[in-house]
Amino acid sequence: MRVFSRGLTDMGLKRSRNEDFFTCNDELGLYIVADGMGGHAAGEIASSTAVSSIVEFIQTFHDDPNLTWPIEANPNLSGMENALVAAIQLANQAVCDQASENRAYGGMGTTIVGLLFYDGRAAAAHVGDSRLYRLRGGRLEQLTCDHSWVNEQLQGKFITEEEARSHRWRNVITRALGNRPTLEIDSASVDVAPGDLFLLCSDGLSGMVCDEELQHILTENLGDLAKACREIILQANLNGGIDNVTAVIVSVQE
Ligand code: CA
Repeated sequence: MRVFSRGLTDMGLKRSRNEDFFTCNDELGLYIVADGMGGHAAGEIASSTAVSSIVEFIQTFHDDPNLTWPIEANPNLSGMENALVAAIQLANQAVCDQASENRAYGGMGTTIVGLLFYDGRAAAAHVGDSRLYRLRGGRLEQLTCDHSWVNEQLQGKFITEEEARSHRWRNVITRALGNRPTLEIDSASVDVAPGDLFLLCSDGLSGMVCDEELQHILTENLGDLAKACREIILQANLNGGIDNVTAVIVSVQE
């Protein structure tokens, strides 16, 4: 199997800066979307620092699989899942360090969603409300569970999906990189088959474009990932564009 990808980010229509950051690295099979927050340009610093830190660790691990492990590995996770989780832990440290070294960066943070392909499978990990979807057989499935206040309320059946979509606390996330030295990361080993399409995105996309619309746009543009990215971002802006929008699309081929 081989994977190839396209990614695109847009400021949206209401924000004056873009605090999202992404990477598409087909060589490493590594894809990341980060959504930063914090004043004085700190959001951009948080998201870009986290992404570079993750890429750096995965590259190092790729070049030398026998390197000394920086954190305790979890025996229940695959090697690559451990690698991705370790990379995110190190990224959290990097963001925390920057926040403590520069007063202007105090309180900054970022979400992360990452996907790392290996041996015909993929490791996925995330913190916050950036999402991972898989399109298979024309059906879009959300593979991550938002770490957000509204999602917790939704899971507890305290609010409806309708209420969650418009709730004034819909942007409140319950986990982020950059807040504290220890971080709880959700990870999973993801089944991959030829023909699968993966979408990583920030909440500026998932909050603006519903799953049915996303499914439709992806299905209509299977042969042209760059166009799919453009169409998705266009739709987010047509629907209001109230936040920065980022989409990374990964196609799996025989
Ligand atoms: Ca956002």
